[in-house]
Amino acid sequence: MTTESTPTADYGPRTPRILSIDDSELMHRLLRARLQLEQIEIFCAATGEEGLRLAHELKPDVILLDIELEGIDGFEVLQRLKEDARTRDIAVIFISASTETMDRVRCLDLGAVDFISKPFDMAELKARLRAAIRVQQLLRMLSQRAQLDGLTALWNRAFFDQRLATEVQQARRLGHPLSLILSDIDHFKSVNARFGHPFGDEVLAFFATILSSRRTTDIACRYGGEEFAIILPGVAAQGAFEVAEDMRKGFESHTWRRQSDLVLTASFGVADLTMIDAAGTPQDLVARADLSLYGAKRSGRNRVSLEGVPLAA
Ligand code: GH3
Ligand code: MG
Ligand code: MG
Ligand code: MG
Repeated sequence: MTTESTPTADYGPRTPRILSIDDSELMHRLLRARLQLEQIEIFCAATGEEGLRLAHELKPDVILLDIELEGIDGFEVLQRLKEDARTRDIAVIFISASTETMDRVRCLDLGAVDFISKPFDMAELKARLRAAIRVQQLLRMLSQRAQLDGLTALWNRAFFDQRLATEVQQARRLGHPLSLILSDIDHFKSVNARFGHPFGDEVLAFFATILSSRRTTDIACRYGGEEFAIILPGVAAQGAFEVAEDMRKGFESHTWRRQSDLVLTASFGVADLTMIDAAGTPQDLVARADLSLYGAKRSGRNRVSLEGVPLAA
């Protein structure tokens, strides 16, 4: 899993990776020579076992898979790829000398996306590769979209829950600190009521840019409505407190284009792993941060609070 504050970095175009699993060295040389000028990276494996290992390591977009291999054959390789969640979504194109219709049927039924007969025409192979790569890129984009909040383009709640669990586990394993900031815009109902819902949406989108403009390892999420969460791996509560304080100031000092005398504020609650016990769950950490946030609200809003005790005004 990558670690960037905003999901957008994940969209960056990645050079498509192709893995060829074939026991013919000639085949590999041919592919390398003829695909040299295409915008792709090509990797080769001579056996099914090596192919599976490289599939895990390289996460290729497309695998070109021979049926007749020494050791485990192409069918077996495909089956193992499909059984493993980490390799299940790789597009597999069979390239085989087999002319048996039943082999083609079996390949496609097992989950291959295409079948090309040897000997093949290079122009056709390239066209089929391009088609498979296009579909892969669309699928990747869709699965990322499903984790994004539409209004702010931050990670959404479903992603947050998953990621927090992963980060808590990792921080404990490595003995690293981990903080969580929860934030809630102050009197947001009255912003909507006075200036309209579309302006409220603009405020949320701007607030999101403040939350995500920090270190690339921070993970900013829309927790729900006008509440946000930032996971800070490697940062203890005092550090997170300072981060939140910067965010608070950044939001408060913003000049709103259409309402130049308007001052909007937000409240922040901070907690870190040391505030829950060793058996505490990620939800316990959220509860601690929420308690801090509640403390910030109760003691007057527009402040950052740690463990329910306000440390700055
Ligand atoms: P407090 O300072 O105590 O947080 O007061 P508040 O008015 O912000 O209270 P509350 O958190 O209950 O209000 C949340 C409001 O946020 C209510 C809801 O209408 C509004 N809201 C939630 N999601 C959206 C959204 O996507 N767009 C807009 N414009 N408003 C939203
Ligand atoms: Mg072969
Ligand atoms: Mg709220
Ligand atoms: Mg609020």
